[in-house]
Amino acid sequence: MKVDKNALPLSCGLRTPFSSLLGRWRKAAPFGLLFLIVSFAVGDERASEPEPPPQPSAPRLEQVTFKDDAGIERKTAGRVLIEAVDGGLVVEGRDGRLWRAEKERLIAREPTGETFSPLSPAELGRQLAAELGGEVDVVTTKHYVICSRAGKAYTRWCGALFERLYAAFQRYWKNMGFEPHEPEFPLVALIFAHDRQFAEFATKDAGPDVATAKGYFSADTNRIVLYDLTATGQGGAGNDAEITKRLAAAPFNVATIVHEATHQIAFNSGMHVRYADNPLWLVEGMAMFFETPDLTSRTGWKTAGAVNDLRLGQFRKQLERRPADSLTTLIQSDARFTNPDQMGPAYAEAWALSYFLIKARKKAYVEYLNRLAAKPRLVFDDPATRLKDFRAAFGDDLQQLDQEFVKYVRKLK
Ligand SMILES: [Zn+2]
Repeated sequence: MKVDKNALPLSCGLRTPFSSLLGRWRKAAPFGLLFLIVSFAVGDERASEPEPPPQPSAPRLEQVTFKDDAGIERKTAGRVLIEAVDGGLVVEGRDGRLWRAEKERLIAREPTGETFSPLSPAELGRQLAAELGGEVDVVTTKHYVICSRAGKAYTRWCGALFERLYAAFQRYWKNMGFEPHEPEFPLVALIFAHDRQFAEFATKDAGPDVATAKGYFSADTNRIVLYDLTATGQGGAGNDAEITKRLAAAPFNVATIVHEATHQIAFNSGMHVRYADNPLWLVEGMAMFFETPDLTSRTGWKTAGAVNDLRLGQFRKQLERRPADSLTTLIQSDARFTNPDQMGPAYAEAWALSYFLIKARKKAYVEYLNRLAAKPRLVFDDPATRLKDFRAAFGDDLQQLDQEFVKYVRKLK
């Protein structure tokens, strides 16, 4: 089927607070780091159940009062993940949301005498419904709590897609020798009825630049936020067949949902760590590896790791004028992803590089994933460290690797 190239998102709406954190917290380093370090056992592909989430030693539940970014006083019960030497905190709420309370914004910190535990799906559903207000449906599936203002059919359809993606993700990486764990918190998806409702919420939640996106994952809130992509002036689609029909008109709509949901799964299964240094080429390459729509499937998506024709086409076009140091600039910093002129090519190259490494350098790629997953939070690597880590997994000779990469991608069908 002919694909509308204009529907391909140039970039995704992943919201990470890294740049703002960098400035504020560097001054306070070194930190009293209390976060958990994830460790992985590489190995048994036949094991049927994913690893349980790593348990930190009985974290205490504390009541923390602080002023948020908007200057509003908040009181949250959570566990302290990071304590800076000046007393500033990063706190994780029982809903999985991360809060930063720098020293000047911290009002009080009190022990509750209780042990930290995540909210149950039912508790989390009630909290989300109260937060959104008005008429909302709360649907829980095995791993998700979906709070939706979209029609029931679309909400159910999304829930089924999320679970299928979740299972495919876990299976794929287990077979690769990477051991994902079960998410510690229920995975939250907010689904709005239409783009205007979404834009209004997204502007307040993540800033005006995501208002025109089709969805995003926020590393702060740990949620994906979407809207009913089948909605017309007369409302959303009423059944699965109609949903499929409407979504097929713009297949990259499904890709957007899968892309953002993949970010959320990767950040909740021990692959990426929120507030740690996660190279964007890897994070975005991972999401794009899973996003490929399957236009022959009723659900619009079937499996992981198919060739992403649009990204491949974009990258091949770039090859004619690709700079000699392209691999190095992609790996060593996120700059190309934040420059509007370079963003599109950076995404295409991140997909191509990830595809090559996952398919043709399996062991090294998993080793690299494990190395990154053990990175501490709030420590942001300089270009030299990024390159050093990459070379440690994939070898010193980047020129040779680059040649093999380009040759491999040229042959892809
Ligand atoms: Zn993304």
